[in-house]
Order: sequence, then C-alpha cells, then structure tokens
Amino acid sequence: MRAPRPNRYRTHWAGELRADEVGKHLRVAGWVHRRRDHGGLIFIDVRDRTGLLQLVFRPEEAPEAHAAAGNLRAEDVITVSGELVRRDEGAVNPDLPTGEVELVAAELEQLADAETPPFQIDEDDPVGEELRLRYRYLDLRKERMRDQMILRHEVIREIRNQLSDEGYLEIETPIMTRSTPEGARDFLVPSRLVRGSWYALPQSPQLFKQLLMVGGYERYFQIARCFRDEDFRADRQPEFTQLDMELSFVEEEDVFDVVDRLLQRVLAIGGVELSLPLERITYDEAMLRYGSDRPDRRLGVEIVDITEIFRASELNIFREAPVVRALKTSGEFPRSRFDSLTEKAQALGAKGLAWAVVEEGGAWRSPIAKRLTDEEVARANDALNAREGDAILIVADEPEVAARVLGALRPEVAEGEPEGHDVFWVVDFPAFEWNEDEGRWEAVHHPFTSPAGDLSAEPGTWRARAYDVVFDGWEIGGGSIRNSDPEVQRKIFELLGIGPEEAQARFGFLLEALTYGAPPHGGVAFGIDRIVALLAGAASIRDVIAFPKAASGVDPLTGAPAPVDQRQLDELGVKVVAPPDSR
Ligand code: ASP
Repeated sequence: MRAPRPNRYRTHWAGELRADEVGKHLRVAGWVHRRRDHGGLIFIDVRDRTGLLQLVFRPEEAPEAHAAAGNLRAEDVITVSGELVRRDEGAVNPDLPTGEVELVAAELEQLADAETPPFQIDEDDPVGEELRLRYRYLDLRKERMRDQMILRHEVIREIRNQLSDEGYLEIETPIMTRSTPEGARDFLVPSRLVRGSWYALPQSPQLFKQLLMVGGYERYFQIARCFRDEDFRADRQPEFTQLDMELSFVEEEDVFDVVDRLLQRVLAIGGVELSLPLERITYDEAMLRYGSDRPDRRLGVEIVDITEIFRASELNIFREAPVVRALKTSGEFPRSRFDSLTEKAQALGAKGLAWAVVEEGGAWRSPIAKRLTDEEVARANDALNAREGDAILIVADEPEVAARVLGALRPEVAEGEPEGHDVFWVVDFPAFEWNEDEGRWEAVHHPFTSPAGDLSAEPGTWRARAYDVVFDGWEIGGGSIRNSDPEVQRKIFELLGIGPEEAQARFGFLLEALTYGAPPHGGVAFGIDRIVALLAGAASIRDVIAFPKAASGVDPLTGAPAPVDQRQLDELGVKVVAPPDSR
C-alpha cells in the first residue's frame, strides 16, 4: 500500500514494517488483536488492514503507556508511537510478515473502546453463520475474510484492466427497469408517481446490452448487479454480481477468443494456470460421458453407453430399454451401499439400478448375473475396462434419465478428492426443451439466443448458438450469439407461447430496436461471486460477498426485508393483504 500521509494517528502501516525500518521512531494505529502479559512486559499485536505488528510495553521505559496497555481489551482502537527494534533471535516469528521486528511503545492513546465481541476475531473460531452475518463488520475483520475481499478486488481489477486495454467500454445499465426474462421471478419496485405500475430489478442487463449493440457500442462490459427472486437453493443469492459482456459483428469464435485470454489472466490471480485455447466439448458429449452439462471431469468416473451389447439379451429390461448406460468404479461396495445407491437412483426417476461386482476371471456377482450370457458380461467388462474387484452401476432407461441418474451418482462413487483444476467450454446446446408440466417449449439458454440447425424441423431438434464455461464442476458463465433479425426473434417468442400482443407489450422496445439496423452480436456473462469463491477455496459465495443475505434471503445485520410504515404504503397505493411471514 502507498505509505499513509503521516498524521496524528499513524506514520506507517503496521503490517508492512520490516527489518529495514529498524531504528526509526514511528507511529501505527489499529485494533488490539491480542494481548499477552509476560512478567511485567505487555505484548500487544496491533492489527490494521495490512496485517499485524507486535508492540512491547516496558514498565521501566514507559510507565504510563504500560499502565494504559494493561487496561486494553481485544478490539479496542489505539494509536501507538515508539521505536522499531529487531526482535531477539529466539523471539522471531517466521509465520508473521512483521515477525522479525517489534515496536517498543513510548506512547499509547486509546481512540475507541470495544465491547466484548460475540466471537473471536483472532482465530477462525467455528461460529454459526447467522451470528457472523449479524455482526458482519466484525467478521470482516478476520484475516481470511480480508484476504478474500482483496482477492475479489484483484479479480475485478484484472477484468477491468484487461477489457479496457482491449477497447471495451464499461457502461452502466438501469437497476430500475422492466422485467428481463432469465427464467427467474422478478423483484418489483412500486412506482409512487404512476400508481399501480412497477419497476422490475434486472435479472441481468441482457436487453440493455443488446440495445447498446444496436447503439453502436461494439465492445461492452459491465460489473453488473443482478437480481433474481428464486426460492431457497443452496448457495444462491437474491442479488449477485456478473461480469456482463457483449460484442458486435462476431461469431462464437470471437467470444471464445476474448474470454479465453481473460480467464487465463483472472484465474492466474488464484494460482489456476490455464493453457489455451480452453478445451470445448459438446453438450451431447457432456451428457453422455458425465450425465451433466457442467461436469466435474476431475472425478474420473465416466459413463459408458453399453446399449448395443444387450440388444438381443434375454434380460427384457436391458433389451427393451431405450439406452443401457453404466459407470465403473472401485472401492468398498457392501450390499448396503448398492441399496442406498438404488434408492437414490429411484428418487431421481430411474426404474431401478442394476449393479455388479467383477469377480475373478471377469464373472459378475450380481442379482442379474444369471440372466446374462458370458459374452454379454465379457463385452460389458471390455467396454467399461472393468477388472476384478471393480463395481459396476447400470441404468436401463430413457437417455435423459440415464444421464441424470448416473451423472448424480458419479460424485458419490468417485474415489478420492479431485485434484488440480479443470476449465472448459460446453458448446452446441439444444435450443428448446419441452416442459411436460406446463405443456410448452422453454428456451434452454434464454429467448434471445440465436437458434441453429434445420429450423424447418421440430424445435426439439434445433441447436442453440449458446456456450457455457465450466470450472471444477461449476457453471461459471454462459452466453450466446443473439437473434439480430427481428423476424426470427418474433418467431421464437411465438414458439415459446408469447403471442404477438404480449411480445409487443413486454419486448416491443427490443423488437423495434432490431428493425433499426441491428448488427450481428453476441456475448457472455460470468458469475463473479462464484469465480472468487472457487479461487479462494471458500465454502460458499456468501464468504466472498461483503454483505450477503443469509441462505434464507434475510439480512441478519440490517433485518431486511422489513415491514415499512403505513404512510409509505399509502403513498405507493400498495395494500398488504397477507400478514408478513413470521420469522
Ligand atoms: N444474460 C445471460 C445470463 O445472465 C448471459 C448472456 O446470455 O450473456 O445468464
């Protein structure tokens, strides 16, 4: 950090003092991190944003400061002056950057008193998250939190530097706007001036970035806050931060090109080395081999299609199944483990789970073994590369069910912890999915994604010009080439069951803009919270957000969301019909 302007509080950063400053008289300020009384001497570790420095208070040399130090408690705020000295050889602390030196205190002034904190700042004491969030300003004082906030800053700074260097403009888009469909529920803000009308908070800047392309700003980015009112799901936040980007006159390759270089630099901040170009796998391959469109490939275990081997099998469930797919793994597999995996498979919609343990000579110990021929078993072993002692899990079902079930079982049966990192693109997604429950088509990415393939064929076969980036089993970003032709955009709305009137009402401004000369364009967005959490090895994105909501959506610090005065509601013309949920 740049040296502070010397003032009455400090002349130096405490955590940045090293042996080359020994002999200087200086002043530091910060919080009492820890106090130890030692046969007349008092040692205090003082903490500022840069780290810790040991202060020594000697009764003979500075009786007043020593007496005052005796009354200090953890987290009191102080300023201290004195001489920086080298520590005695035996007292050097190699774990502390300032561990070779200490400040012999001459003068101490207490600037603020601290209540006893509800948890310890000086150790990673396992306190409940609710309490950490309730006193977030204390939690943020912890070294680990400080390091994560610094990492977050570094990531965002690198993004801004790199994209600015490449000529991208950072442009803000509105927070109070109209609904942008990313597939979640909107947060709404009532308008006082236009009663009965509402702003929506943006689920993403999607439509505005497309309008910026129509406006001629061919390279755009934004560190954008997005808002999605989703039901509780592990590790989601109702507001989160995206790196949002859009480019004009581009194809997929242009997006991959800039993103590859950007990710290489950004992930390097967290020590993750990428070799470029990032690998690309198709959606179909991801689903076939890993049963997921954001697989953690480091788990090793892969799904193998063994349908053909059983086309003439005596076992009906194999012979007649649309597909037969299997996983091979090793490890301890008592019967009870197969039973619990079977339960899990059924909960995920499979009719059942067949299993086998490979015995000496390749024979299967399995409830279905009697119904299979030696040749079928031998060919399956071959396809799976299975040897004595291996366990095999088989699902015979619709392809989607086999993928979903085996994809979910992969992490359960994988051996050992995944090592290293794996970052790659998934490309060539389907464009639409049939929603059984609602009896209609849904866009797999979003309605603004350009379709590809034979558009005269059934929409379920259309591909999307969409792409995602996967990092260690997490989807960290995704985007697409857009519909720049208003006719295509209209047709897609229609297909999605958004009739011309509704399309006009909700997206008329976009459709109109597309008629004024829209360049071909496409872009991508990345979840910054997730990227930082992965780089920090944090358990949750909440750990890398300064003031997150708790998992329930509530902010224990401010108490938001909170009731408002009747007067405010009256002004807005809003009537609350149900009592608020009791918390
Ligand atoms: N708007 C999309 C999202 O938030 C990203 C994109 O298509 O650029 O997921």
